[in-house]
Amino acid sequence: MRIAEVVFNLPLERAFHYLIPPALESTAQPGARVLAPFGSTSRIGFVVKRVSKSSFPMLKTVRRVLDSRPVIADERWALAEWLSRHYCCSFGEALAALIPGELRIRWSAAADARVEKCDGSVDGHAPTLTPHQQRAFEVIEGALQRRRTSTILLHGVTGSGKTELYLRAIASVLQRGDSAICLVPEIALTPQTIDRFQARFGACVAVWHSRLTRRQRAQVWQEAVSGARRIVIGTRSAVFSPLPRVGLIVVDEEHESTYKQGDTPRYHARDVAQARMGLTRGVVLLGSATPSVESYYEAAQGRSQLVELPERIAGRRLPSVDIVDMRDEFGARRAGLLSRRLQRALERAVQRQEQAMLLLNRRGFARVAQCRQCGTVMRCRRCAVTMVYHASQQQLVCHYCNFQTALPDICGACRKGVLRLRGIGTERVESELHRLFPVASISRMDSDTTKSRESHRQLYDAIKTEQVGLLVGTQMIAKGLDFPQVTLVGVVSADTALNLPDFRAGERTFDLLTQVAGRAGRGAQPGQVVIQTYCPAHYAIRAATRHDYAAFYAEEIQMRKRLNLPPWTHLVELTIHGTSHARVSEAAEGLAKALRRRIATRRMALLGPAPHRIPKLRRSFRMSVIVKGRTVAPMVELLRSVLQPGRRAHGLPVTVDVDPL
Ligand SMILES: [Zn+2]
Ligand SMILES: [Zn+2]
Repeated sequence: MRIAEVVFNLPLERAFHYLIPPALESTAQPGARVLAPFGSTSRIGFVVKRVSKSSFPMLKTVRRVLDSRPVIADERWALAEWLSRHYCCSFGEALAALIPGELRIRWSAAADARVEKCDGSVDGHAPTLTPHQQRAFEVIEGALQRRRTSTILLHGVTGSGKTELYLRAIASVLQRGDSAICLVPEIALTPQTIDRFQARFGACVAVWHSRLTRRQRAQVWQEAVSGARRIVIGTRSAVFSPLPRVGLIVVDEEHESTYKQGDTPRYHARDVAQARMGLTRGVVLLGSATPSVESYYEAAQGRSQLVELPERIAGRRLPSVDIVDMRDEFGARRAGLLSRRLQRALERAVQRQEQAMLLLNRRGFARVAQCRQCGTVMRCRRCAVTMVYHASQQQLVCHYCNFQTALPDICGACRKGVLRLRGIGTERVESELHRLFPVASISRMDSDTTKSRESHRQLYDAIKTEQVGLLVGTQMIAKGLDFPQVTLVGVVSADTALNLPDFRAGERTFDLLTQVAGRAGRGAQPGQVVIQTYCPAHYAIRAATRHDYAAFYAEEIQMRKRLNLPPWTHLVELTIHGTSHARVSEAAEGLAKALRRRIATRRMALLGPAPHRIPKLRRSFRMSVIVKGRTVAPMVELLRSVLQPGRRAHGLPVTVDVDPL
């Protein structure tokens, strides 16, 4: 009997051998998924090889083959190897990232036969390109013609027509008989982009995202393999689409942190896109109004090509931006919500029946419930983070684990003091707007109001048809929305991201302000932006008011260099988890010691151990150790030599995060 070498979605480097029964002989091929006995149960694994001999005694037998055809083929084998190597995970974990184990694909000839003609020819509805767009397109087209691995960074101000260039580039790839992937940060936030793709390419387009049902996913997968669809537009995991001959991967809004996967392997879809196109001599097109410092640095170093779109289409101007210094407005008490200037601007918008958006990147009503007597702050018992008060539910909510509890009448610690609510969230801004503008139609867009599958689309349609006059929201409203009637954007507090203990705080602030400001004045009426801040002198805020990415980058890259931070270096964050604080500390110390012994000669540095950003999550304690070095490969090699089998340290599980965000 033949033997299958099988790997599993487990942190184990080794493969396992199973006998292939004669009935499964033809289907248990490399690249197929199988159900195989594992310990006292069965697991789904991937056949990676077939061998005729095994040194293991007493082999078990494959129970079932899930796929009548291999699901891993072509360059995606090599891509899985790269994932495993680069992100320090097992080959089984890498393969599982490429195709979810539970995906049940019904291979039918019917879908294969449904291949429609899809040549991507640009029809009469495509708009004429501006001179800047035309020049940018020539660069992209040139790269596609050369058929050499390359990355192009398309840096275009908000409203400069990047999507039209994506559409043209994809049409060009299709005409050549190849296929294309377009990554977007979040499907629910980009209804307009999808509409435009479907209007241009019709049935060639498949949409892939996490809210699809299992059956829909399986269908998209099969249609991509068979060539019935030639374009996949989707969120980060769409980068693994099984389309044959992918010639182009577009990464729209490449700076977005949603491209980073939260579980092992903790990949970044932009980096995977580049690795994949490196295997097939394809082109990666990164687009953003606020490129990540990493991507802009790559272009500055000449490793990718920079193309700029410095102007909005149709001669529209960027909005004017006013800064309100909240220290002048409210003094150091920090009590105020809306400055007089922002209130006046809102009044004008309401009078003229124009739309306005207010950004506050914090949901809930009050951020902190604190005892007036002893100062104790209400924290989640499981996560040790402060709980946020939600007025609509009249509950304190943990934003990490969603634990909820009623606001107590008196403080649980001293049993004397009453609790005071401090710090503002979107709910509070919404109620303030209702007070100021009782007749206006006001809506809120944040993850609380868009939980259900259709709610975002409904809210979006209500804004589009101007049933909503004033919109309050978190960063959700900053992304991708294109409503020509929005003339005013107000930022309630520009400082929420600035005060985070994170070296990317300046970059996040610049991104958010630039992106949300870009929502104003996209139609015939000019736009106005009012930004409230307690730090008007900060370079990220100053640069955002002038729409000046170059000025922001110049300051930021110098700061990163001084502190030897990415993109000058790479970081790998190791996090140890466990229910005993003492054991977690001990393991973290032990791991740091073992690493320190080995890195002295390798031009790496070690930081920590220190409590993780969220030191306790769902009753599990977390400590982190960070390794810093010039390149990733030697750091991962070092980790493989230090971590115990099963990716553990002192018996506790360790997560490895390469290039953490
Ligand atoms: Zn108290
Ligand atoms: Zn919690």
